[in-house]
This record gives sequence, structure tokens and C-alpha cells, in this order.
Amino acid sequence: MKSRREKRRVLRGLAASPGQVIGPAYLHVSRETQVPSQRVAPDEIAAEIRRFRDSLRKAREEIRELRERLEQGSDDPGDQILAAHLMILQDRELIREITAAIKAERMNAADVVRRTFLAKTHYIESLPSEVFRGRAADIRDVQRRLLVHLLEEKHASLAQVPEGSIVVARELVPSETVSLGPGRLAGVVTEQGTLTSHVTILARSRGVPAVIGVDDALADISHGETILVDGDHGVVIVAPNDDDIGHQRESIERVRRIGALVAGREQEAGATQDGHPVPVRANIERPEDGATALQAGAEGVGLFRTEFLFLDGGGLPGEERQWEAYRQVAEVFAAAPVTIRTLDLGGDKHASLMGIAREENPFLGLRGIRFCLEQPDLFLPQVRAILRAASGGNLRMLLPMVGSVAQLRATRELVARATRELRAEGHTLPAQVPVGVMIEVPAAVLMSDALAREADFFSIGSNDLIQYSLAVDRGNARIARLYDALDPAILRAIEMTVRHAHAAGIRVGSCGEMSGELPGMLLLVGLGIDELSVAPVLVARTKAILGGIDFATLQRLARRCLEAVGADEVAQVLTEGLAHHRQFHFEQLDGRLRGHWDPDD
Ligand code: PEP
Ligand code: MG
Repeated sequence: MKSRREKRRVLRGLAASPGQVIGPAYLHVSRETQVPSQRVAPDEIAAEIRRFRDSLRKAREEIRELRERLEQGSDDPGDQILAAHLMILQDRELIREITAAIKAERMNAADVVRRTFLAKTHYIESLPSEVFRGRAADIRDVQRRLLVHLLEEKHASLAQVPEGSIVVARELVPSETVSLGPGRLAGVVTEQGTLTSHVTILARSRGVPAVIGVDDALADISHGETILVDGDHGVVIVAPNDDDIGHQRESIERVRRIGALVAGREQEAGATQDGHPVPVRANIERPEDGATALQAGAEGVGLFRTEFLFLDGGGLPGEERQWEAYRQVAEVFAAAPVTIRTLDLGGDKHASLMGIAREENPFLGLRGIRFCLEQPDLFLPQVRAILRAASGGNLRMLLPMVGSVAQLRATRELVARATRELRAEGHTLPAQVPVGVMIEVPAAVLMSDALAREADFFSIGSNDLIQYSLAVDRGNARIARLYDALDPAILRAIEMTVRHAHAAGIRVGSCGEMSGELPGMLLLVGLGIDELSVAPVLVARTKAILGGIDFATLQRLARRCLEAVGADEVAQVLTEGLAHHRQFHFEQLDGRLRGHWDPDD
């Protein structure tokens, strides 16, 4: 009988990032569950206690540095959280307890720290008081900080994964995903996540095939086992056979053929077949992506997700580092617009280094502009960096998670203050830097007439707009079927936003994943979106798709879809309405309509 390791198995998940790849599985388990339990020899106990004390010292230094960098007064919530963490790290009773346990149990410091903190968290979480329960998050945070130091040499981060590996994990958080790259990671398989969680977005923008929401992937796949990730169909094949390998080769060939078909279209201006202009810009996460995007044909940057500058592990980027990053992208694009989205931390993008407290509902919590307006010491340097980098005249500022006119006004005040200060310091600034609003919260849609009168442009963030409008967590694989861009509620929200924007004379872009997907992009253009922003790898393909269909056809289809009562009806209208367009191929996948474009098929 064949052993489990040699036996072909098929696991199913969501087709998150296209492409197929074969490689060895690299099982990535989060630090908390990776903590080893090891006996310590009697003559090593003193050294183990020293390691524990060193980790305490490093953690305290880190926190002090953070507090200094935040330059916050004692009434600031961020500063208060860090002060509370420092108190835990200075708690004599706790330190004595852990030291005594290392001695008595002769166990390694990391294991004792993990167990001691776990017991404290459980106790606090069992208390009736909400206030006490909130403290459990602080204890977990401090524990994580200590473990990072205690496990430093022993645990490879994703940045050290052997090249060509396929990472298999329960979930990847954005700060871990930053190291994703075609040269390093060949593919991604996760147990959690959805089509618009940030791991998916990053995998797509790096061209790394990914299948997510695979139940029990960590249990079903062994470290080092050969797996095939089919990101087109949401399938993972463990121990693939010769037929599977043959199909993978065909898929690679197909990707190459489509690449050849769109090659040469990079430098065209985005437009429909009958000449209706729809500039195709790029979504980027790092300053160095700017050059790649330009080469890929991007007509500017529609979304620079700046939070990744804060999540790359290099500490908080100050004004200078940010200015350098924004200036670099602005210069690459010369005249084409470059849209810098201000910090959108929160949700699934945590920055533990900023001491953000853990929240019960982070997606409904202190996220995006809400966080920034509460943290002017963090926000002002970003605003100053953007204004300074805007001297070439092509930068725009885009605000995430806006839900009220008041938030836009408060930001404008901050921009005015930064402008005054910078001019007084002798900087030359353009007369005006456009300030735009992301439309990604239902309140922003409903207030889009008022917002349009005060904003310089809109950008629809469909990833969040879908999550918040349909009340479907974009990171929850169990309800991923409910997350559908074709829901008429979403189409109506987009139609209303575009109508209000155009009535006020401002442009509306779209920068969520819907902009680069079929059929999503066709509906967006049909609904009147003025520009699309997609991952750099999708720019040429998006231009080729738009160039093959009339604007009037798209408008007609969009109008009919607005009348539909459900996503299934929208899917039907689209498949029937586009049936004679041979380049579009539609199928139902994971309960939703998915399309691919292949004019040769
Ligand atoms: C969106 O919500 O659609 C968006 C573009 O922003 P993010 O995915 O970073 O939340
Ligand atoms: Mg968003």
C-alpha cells in the first residue's frame, strides 16, 4: 500500500490568485503555536533566565523608542496602551513567577512565558468586567513581543523561506505577506481568507498563484511534500501525478499565449472599442512597484497602499522616508497622476509596533481615516510627506474609510495646517493637491452627493464596499460565497455614487479587485466609472479587454443588471448579453460568476 505521503489527494478552496505552480510545501505556523517546549539542563538554567531577562530588556527598549517616536502626550490612547505594556514588562511579581518556573520546572523560557501569559489571559477573560477583559489583548501583545525576542534565531520568517516554496498556512497577515515575491514564494495555500483579503490582493499583485480557504490544509499537507496549486480553479493537488503535471504545463502555455496576445498593448491608452476613454492605472504597495507598473503600461497609480511602508518591519517610517517613497513614484510617472492613499491601518492590517489595541471587530473599529484623525502625530508627517513630494504636480491624496463629510473637513484642516507650516519652512508646494475620498462604506455612498461637493475626486473601493454593504467579512472563508460583486445592491451603490460625482463635476475611479476582474470591470465601465486601477500584471490585459467591446453595449448591460433582483439574475443577464462576444468565457465557480478572456479559444 502506498504511504500517505505518496498518495495523490485533491483539496479544494477558493481560486484566489491565478496560475498553476508545483513545488515543495513549506508549512508556516504562527509564532504562538510554534513555541517549542524543551527541557533545560541544570547547568543551562542560569543562561535561560538571562535570555528571559534579555527579552524583557529588548521589549522595554522597543516600547520606549516607540513612545519617543510617537511623541505623544500622556492623554493619547496609543501612548497609554504602550505605557500599560511597559507596566506589564516591569511587573516584579510576574518576572519573579516566570523566573521561578524556569528554575523549578527546568523548561525553556519561551515555553514558560507562553504558559504563564496564557493562564493570565484566560483568567482575565473569565472576569465579568468588560474593562478587565479588554486588558487580555494587552497581555497577548506583550507576550508576542517577548516571544519574538526569545525565538529570534530559531524561527524563520517568510522572508527566509527557501526559494520556490509553496507556503501553506492557517492564515497570512499582511505584514507577513509583504515578503511574497515570484522569486521567493512560488505559491500560497491558506486555510482562511477570501478573495479580497489582503493576502489575496498581494498574491495577485505579485503574480503568485494562491488557493485560500482550504479546510485543514495544515493537517492534510506535510512539510516538504510536493503540491500543485491551481489558482485558476481553487484546487490543491498533493503528490500530483503525470497527468496533473501535463495539465499544469498546458496552463503555463496558455498564460504565455495570453501574455503574447496582450504584449504590445501596454503603451495604448485605455479605451473601449468605440473610443470612450478609460485610463487604466495601477495599484501598488511599495515604492519600487512604481517602475514595474509604468513598464506594464499603467497610466498612473490609482492606489498606493501606503500602510505597507508601516508593516514592512522596518519600524515607523518618518516624514523623510515617506517623502522619499512618494517622490520616487511621482517621478517615475512624471505627468500621470499618482494617488497616494493615506494610512489604512486596522481591519486585517495591524501594526503591533504601533500598539493598536486588539479589537473585537477590527473591521468596524479604529480603521483608516478614523485612526489617522485620532493620531495626528502619525498622520501629520504623512500629510507633510505627500505635500512635499507633490512639487511635480501629479500627486493626489486619497482618504480611506471616510464615512462622513466631517472626516473630510477635518482632514482638509490638517492639510491646510501642514501646507502653512511647510511654506513657512521654505518648501515650494503646488497651489493645490487634490484630495479624494474612497467610497467603501455605505454611509459614504448615501452621502455621496454632499461628499462630491467637497472632494476633488472619488475612488470606489469595492473590496470594502462589498463587505460593508452586504455585511460579509472579506476575510471569512466560511461566508465567502455571499461575497459577490455582482449583487445588485453593489451595482446600485456604484450607480448612485457615479451619478452624484458627475453631477458635481468630479471623476470617479475604481481601485478594488472588481476593477481587474471579469465581469466586474465591464459593469464598472458600463455604470460610468471614469478610470480603473488594477494590479500591474493586469494592466495590459485590462486594456485589451476594454478595447474589444463598445461602451454603449456595456451601458445597456449595466442598465439591465441594475434592474435584477439578485446576483444570479445579474450573472444570467451578463452571460446571455455577452454570448456572441467570443472572447469572454464565463463559468460558475465557488458559487459566483467568473469570467476569463481568451480571444483565441
Ligand atoms: C478596497 O477596499 O476596495 C480597497 C481598494 O482598499 P483595501 O483593499 O486596501 O481595503
Ligand atoms: Mg478598502
